[in-house]
Amino acid sequence: MGQRLEGKRAVITGGGRGIGKAIALSYVREGAQCVITSRNLDDLEATSKEGPDGAIKPFVCDVSSDESVTSMAKFVNDELGGVDIVVNNAGIHAAGRFLDIDPATYSRLYEVNVVGIVRVSQAFLGGMIERGRGSIVNIASTAGLFESPGQAPYNASKHGAVGLTRCMGLELASSGVTCNAICPGFVDTPMLDGFAELVGAESDELRNQLAKRTPMGRILSPDEIANLAVYLGSDEASGMTGQTMAISNGMRMS
Ligand code: NAD
Repeated sequence: MGQRLEGKRAVITGGGRGIGKAIALSYVREGAQCVITSRNLDDLEATSKEGPDGAIKPFVCDVSSDESVTSMAKFVNDELGGVDIVVNNAGIHAAGRFLDIDPATYSRLYEVNVVGIVRVSQAFLGGMIERGRGSIVNIASTAGLFESPGQAPYNASKHGAVGLTRCMGLELASSGVTCNAICPGFVDTPMLDGFAELVGAESDELRNQLAKRTPMGRILSPDEIANLAVYLGSDEASGMTGQTMAISNGMRMS
C-alpha cells in the first residue's frame, strides 16, 4: 500500500464501476478512506468488498437530485468527519445525429454531467474552505475539448464541465481548495457497452473501431485514469488549479 493519500477522506460519485471504481480502489491503496456513491447499490457493495475492510463505504445517491445529494453529504460527514477530496465522476452518455436528438436529452445530460458537479461540490465546499484545503477532481472527457461525431449533447455537457472547472479553479484559488479536470479519451468501461447499444454495434466491434481511430491504437484502462486522479487528489498537486488534463489515447496533443 502507498502513502500518497494517507489520512485523506474522499467521496467519489459513480464509484461503483468503471473509472470511478478504479479511482476508489487506487485511493484506498494510497491510504485514503472513501465513500463511493451511485444509483446502483449492488455495484457499490461489490466495489466496497474489493477494498480493505471498511475503507470504502457505499451510499446510494443520484447527483441530479438536491435531496439525494444532501442526504449523501450528511452520511459522508457523519462517517468520515469531513472530506478532503471530491471526485465528480458520475456521468451519462447519449449518441445519435444532431437532427435526431431532442432538447430533453440535452437537459438530462447537463443535469448530471454539469449540474451534478455543482451540486456535489457545493455540498462539501463549506468544510473544505473552512479547513483551507481540499481537492476537487472533475472527470470530463476529450468530448469537452474538441468535436466528436454523433455525440452533441455529451460533447456540449463535457465542454460545460471543462468551463465549470476553470471557473471553480479561479474562484476557489485563494481558499486553498483546488479544482482540476481529467479528460479521458476512450476507456474500457461499461459506458462503452451502452455506447455500442446506442449505435447498434457489438461491444467488441465498437471497441475495435474506436481503438483504430486513436494514434495509440488502443482503448485505455480505467487504472490509467485513476493514476492521474491519485496525483490530483494528493498534496503533490497543491499548486495546480483550473487545469484540464487529457489522457486521450494520443488524440489530443497540447
Ligand atoms: P460508467 O457508465 O461505467 O459509470 C458511470 C457511473 O456513474 C455509474 O456508476 C453510474 O451509476 C453513475 N451515474 C450515472 N448517473 C448518475 C447519477 N445521476 N447519479 C449518480 N451516479 C450516476 O462510465 P465510466 O466510463 O466509468 O464513466 C465515468 C466518467 O468518465 C463519466 O463522467 C464519463 O462521462 C467519463 N468518461 C468516460 C469515458 C469512457 O470512454 N468510458 C471517456 C471519457 C469520459
